[in-house]
Amino acid sequence: MNYTEDLSVSNINDNKFELTLSVSTVTVATKEEAKKVVDFQKQAFIAEPGSLELEHLFTTQLYSTNLWSSGCSNAAYIGMTGVTLDFDHGYTIDEAQQAFADYNYILHTSRTHQYSEDNNLGEDRFRVILPFEPGVMQFTSASEAAKVYYKLMTLYPKADQACSNPGRKFFPSTRELNTPFLLDVHVSGKYFSMDVSDVPVVKPFVQVNYIPPTELDTHEELYRMLKFDKFIPWCQGEASNGLPEPLWHAMISNLCRFEGGRELIHEISAKDPVIGRYDFDETEDKIQHALESSGPIGYEEIVKRGWSGVAPVAPLAPAGFAKIGSIQNRKSLFASDKNPDIYLKHDDWILVDDKGILSAIIFGDLKQKVKEEGCTVSAVCPFCDTDGAKIRTNTFHFAYLHCEQCNRSYWEHPDSPELFSYNGELLRIEMKGNKFISHEKLKPVNFRNGLEWDYACKAVMNDPKRRFIGDSFTINRIGDASFGELGYEMLPEENSVVFEFPAIGVDVQDNAFIDRFLDRMFRDRADFVKNWMALYAYTNYVSLPVIVLTGPRSCGKNTFADLVGEIFPSLKATWDGDKEQFNDFAKAKLVFVDENRHSDKPVQYAEIKRLTGSRTIKINEKHIRQYYVRNNAKFIFATNDPRPIALHWREEPESEKTNNFFIYSCPAVSSDDIDGELFDKLKARLGHYVRTELKKRFEAWKQSGNANTRYALKTPITDLAKQLFGASKSLIELEAEELAQYLVCGYQRNDGSLLYPKTYSFSPVMAAGGLYVQQQDLRELVQKLNFKGHSNYKSYITVLQDHGVLSYKNDNRVSGQRLGYQILRKPEYYTTASGSIAAEEGVITSSAGLSICHTTSSSNGRVVFE
Ligand SMILES: [Zn+2]
Repeated sequence: MNYTEDLSVSNINDNKFELTLSVSTVTVATKEEAKKVVDFQKQAFIAEPGSLELEHLFTTQLYSTNLWSSGCSNAAYIGMTGVTLDFDHGYTIDEAQQAFADYNYILHTSRTHQYSEDNNLGEDRFRVILPFEPGVMQFTSASEAAKVYYKLMTLYPKADQACSNPGRKFFPSTRELNTPFLLDVHVSGKYFSMDVSDVPVVKPFVQVNYIPPTELDTHEELYRMLKFDKFIPWCQGEASNGLPEPLWHAMISNLCRFEGGRELIHEISAKDPVIGRYDFDETEDKIQHALESSGPIGYEEIVKRGWSGVAPVAPLAPAGFAKIGSIQNRKSLFASDKNPDIYLKHDDWILVDDKGILSAIIFGDLKQKVKEEGCTVSAVCPFCDTDGAKIRTNTFHFAYLHCEQCNRSYWEHPDSPELFSYNGELLRIEMKGNKFISHEKLKPVNFRNGLEWDYACKAVMNDPKRRFIGDSFTINRIGDASFGELGYEMLPEENSVVFEFPAIGVDVQDNAFIDRFLDRMFRDRADFVKNWMALYAYTNYVSLPVIVLTGPRSCGKNTFADLVGEIFPSLKATWDGDKEQFNDFAKAKLVFVDENRHSDKPVQYAEIKRLTGSRTIKINEKHIRQYYVRNNAKFIFATNDPRPIALHWREEPESEKTNNFFIYSCPAVSSDDIDGELFDKLKARLGHYVRTELKKRFEAWKQSGNANTRYALKTPITDLAKQLFGASKSLIELEAEELAQYLVCGYQRNDGSLLYPKTYSFSPVMAAGGLYVQQQDLRELVQKLNFKGHSNYKSYITVLQDHGVLSYKNDNRVSGQRLGYQILRKPEYYTTASGSIAAEEGVITSSAGLSICHTTSSSNGRVVFE
């Protein structure tokens, strides 16, 4: 790489830029020295190629593009002047120079640039500083700072994730390792800028409960606590100023459980500056009292009692650090192994720097974070206790921790809890972000060696909780507003694997807004619709009535359907309402049929009936072999068509208890009332609405026991529905349309008993490329179909002629043979429903028997599952 060449191209009129950094007040020569630095000051620089001042800075001083009121803690953060990205794996300087060419930037290599370790070749390791336009300090709160780095990590996934905390400073590229140092000041670009208005509130690590040890423990564990906890060392430092009594108690309750802790309590207490306040016997009494109490006092309480430090997510009390992270002396899995690997289990506690404080997180969660964000996580090595270990995942999404100090890697245990087996094959559930990746079939090549593969196969296939076989196996997706986060469950008793989706998060709390929208749109039916939504949010596999909405444009029907879809954004699908080759929409929880173009097809009605009435549905999905899901689909139709759905008059419901269709015409909204931001406003309020109003309705529904209704709720039979069912003209049209399908495709029905079967069948006559039907055959067909108007079969002929299905002439001849009416509609009109069509339920039949559920594509076997 030739840097001088790069520098010479800089624009003469624009050959420098300004930047302001936090810079350490002292210079250092080694990493160890750098670790002790805490004082920083704000300093402005002119950046230009070849700057010796900058070279000196980046090799001897700590710096940050974040500014602090004092020191360099998360709490003291006041804003940023730019951003700094750290690249240490899988990204070259060349790639970075191209990626950032449009910006002013400073690129400098870091301490371990091209340094070979662990028998690996060296890699480019470097930082990229991207200054903002000088002037006003930006992103002045810690939450905004978190959003900035959250977005940066999405934009530049190769950057080290650990750059993101507001207290983050960067060590200089000290010259201890004699690595090459390169500095590229790129001045021909523009200042960097960030817009974080689209970034959601950044979620911290998930809270985990850790139960601290309660028994008297060893010296070694005492030292671990003193090393990682911040509270007891604070007490030690503060003792000579006099500890406030509540905090003194907290200190005792944490120390008293350890061998050597008692002595330390006396040592700290004796430093009290007030003569006579330390009393040996009184302190012993306190220790005894603390030992008899339930457990060590936790961080939350300690903060309440006035400690100004920051509590980690876990452990919950200082004493908890004693047992966290140290997993030394772990035996190898394989007795025969000459150079045994040591494995990390999913529930092993690992200490990580969580926004400036050490917190304990289980390895499985860290793996998930690393995988989702494509980053590395810095951690304290659980074997040698030094920090600076890194957690990464390999190509096949198994995680490992590499420690420079131990000079080795520790691998994810081959038997990971996401594994399951189906009909003798090893599969894995994978989540990424808010998605599941397909239940992916694993192969020996996915594991580091044959021993691991054998181990995992054996462990999973011998575990009845994770071993599935047979035709009744289903893969199900459910949404429930009481779930906290994306998860999965293996249910051997139901022979199923279940993917669990949480509801949309809470943003704005304003139920009245959503109520106004629903009340305006559904008027006296709003109560039913809200209850429907409540069951949608809190139940699964419950059969809910189909919602069919019609009405003018911008009456809100699509907004309503989209809003329901947003309750579980990953569980919505659209369907064009026709029978299709691929029906993967049917694995969704909400199926939205927009502009129901096939509302005139009787086959649609049959398909809806089948989809709402079946316990399981066979999913035909592109590139994935057929598999079964337990039916969890609810339907909303929206259309401008005043006749929104093809209903069958013979199925007109007798009461609200057996009604399966809520058919509703939405009132128009005057153009003055149309709010372009309505959907966004509703969506922002939805999370709270779901967890309050809908929850209340769900609880009430549970109490009331709606067991005697067929579709969970009493479903209003609207005037529109009555019209649709009752209007004889439209009925004739509907039936004529059904008739047309049989005329074109044929019809077959089995009557009579098993012993004396009688078959009636109709097929059109084909001649000279056209289809024909004689009038008497048509009459017989109408009678066999038992249509309501069968006594006047000619009315059907009139409708079919008017619709261009039948010729007006009924004396068509081909080669002198009289063939009757010509059927003008082509079989292609029913492309997806070819072959003979049986009546009603018989239109679609599904065969039993389950095909296995992994992907057929052999190229990489990985398909996003939703
Ligand atoms: Zn180590």
